[in-house]
Amino acid sequence: MANSGSLSLRIKLLQGDITKVTADAIVNAANSSLLGGGGVDGAIHRAGGPAILEACRKIVARQGGCSPGEAVITTGGNLLARHVIHTVGPVWTGGQKREPEILANCYRNSLQLAQEQDLETIAFPNISTGVYGYPKDKAATVAVRTVVDFLQQHPLPKQVLFVVFDEENRRLYEQELAAIE
Ligand code: ADP
Repeated sequence: MANSGSLSLRIKLLQGDITKVTADAIVNAANSSLLGGGGVDGAIHRAGGPAILEACRKIVARQGGCSPGEAVITTGGNLLARHVIHTVGPVWTGGQKREPEILANCYRNSLQLAQEQDLETIAFPNISTGVYGYPKDKAATVAVRTVVDFLQQHPLPKQVLFVVFDEENRRLYEQELAAIE
């Protein structure tokens, strides 16, 4: 058990563009094809350049895409981050289709990959809260709870950044994180 007293020091909140973040890995809210899309996915591929898509294509050739809740890792291409961890969030269809469990798997499996690769810092966007329509308040609760649980049990990653893009998510994450401090 890691020292829970240091928990709040291991989690930080940032507002802005995740493609500009310096971290060992940034997480992409990808889709199952792994071949790019809109939102944060499009921004990451644009900023990171073709090396990321090339690495994704190799993964697709090997395992055929990525199921919701799973995560895969590639180079960060031209990004400041050395790696991109691509995870596929659930599409919100009302909450009865295991959406919370799948969203928690996204965070847990991304953290697991980071740990396996000895990564110290990882930055998450607000997975599924864009086009996939997951209610932002519910998603923030799942994200923070899952990350806290993981960090309490593992020394790596040392630091997790939640990168919020919009005001509503900033406010929600401030509330969620205040509760653990
Ligand atoms: P999903 O399909 O998983 O819902 P989206 O990319 O549509 O993925 O949205 C996920 C979240 O990422 C949303 O909260 C959106 O506001 C946010 N977002 C979009 N672009 C960026 C960016 N450049 N940096 C950080 N977050 C972003």
